[in-house]
Amino acid sequence: MLHGALIAGAIREAPAGLGMREGACVEARMVERGVNVPQSYRLVRRDARGERTIVRLRNGATFGGDEIAICAGPCGVESREQLETAAAAVAAAGANVLRGGAYKPRTSPYSFQGLGEEGLKMLRDSGDRHGLGVVTEVLDPRDVERVARYADMLQIGARNMQNFPLLREVGGLRMPVLLKRGLSATVQEWLLAAEYVMLGGNESVVLCERGVRSFDPATRNLLDIAVVPLLEEMTHLPVIVDPSHAMGIARLVPPIAVASIAAGAHGLLIEVHPDPANALSDGAQSLDCDQFALLMRRLAAVAEFAGRRLPQHVKPSDAARSNGQREADGAVRSSKSGVRLA
Ligand code: PEP
Ligand code: MN
Repeated sequence: MLHGALIAGAIREAPAGLGMREGACVEARMVERGVNVPQSYRLVRRDARGERTIVRLRNGATFGGDEIAICAGPCGVESREQLETAAAAVAAAGANVLRGGAYKPRTSPYSFQGLGEEGLKMLRDSGDRHGLGVVTEVLDPRDVERVARYADMLQIGARNMQNFPLLREVGGLRMPVLLKRGLSATVQEWLLAAEYVMLGGNESVVLCERGVRSFDPATRNLLDIAVVPLLEEMTHLPVIVDPSHAMGIARLVPPIAVASIAAGAHGLLIEVHPDPANALSDGAQSLDCDQFALLMRRLAAVAEFAGRRLPQHVKPSDAARSNGQREADGAVRSSKSGVRLA
């Protein structure tokens, strides 16, 4: 009955360029695999492309390939010193993307709102100094151009997943977008939000599961780890996991990060603060620098188990010596297990 309805729906909604019969066949294959992928996911659906999408940042970090992406850094950029300490530590531990909010979506208007453009400059400086890509959140369509001048990847936060003007604005850029799952968004709503971005012509979209609201306050959110293998079937876009916002409790972050990579995630987004107890936002869920380094060592083994590897980080000092041939000559070699050899 359900199968019949789905196939009938596909015939009714077969996209232009696809023959009706062909549209029905695509849908039938999805049904066969037990995956309900409505025809309205024209661009994000798995079958829309022959290959999986690999999103690449300027520093060489990739999402969606054999190498996973590790995005790490503080929840918010608080000061040059705080950010620089975090950036140096996460780079030394093997991360390849620096995260940090310069525009913070806070529940209370009286909470720390971020440093704005000053914070963006600090992100760019620290990112460049340590060979890290920069991902940072943009809250407002009017800020997109400014944030894009400094960042390598624009984060659309959970609270803005269905901010359609913002989705259209970043869809008009040719710059990677990290699209977080909304606080209580269904997989369908999330994929259709990604469809908005792709419809603007921006094909570099990475999905980020960060937990959804649940009945149970025991953890900050309820991590839906099942979406990792599910989305692998439904879309060609890469999927990463943010265990920090999912858990809300720092000690729970490492085991869930490990589980996410084991489940097939293409990367992680992890909050790291040099002094979590005094963080201006999300201190309770932030790892300190030593805890992050320890987690990276655990992740090397699980990445290998999942058939992937940790980032082959580029040290800026090596890059400078190699005179522009960063990837060829400057890359730090990895041991067999993927642990970066300093
Ligand atoms: C963040 O990454 O700091 C953030 C605010 O995340 P989310 O939108 O998932 O709550
Ligand atoms: Mn945060």
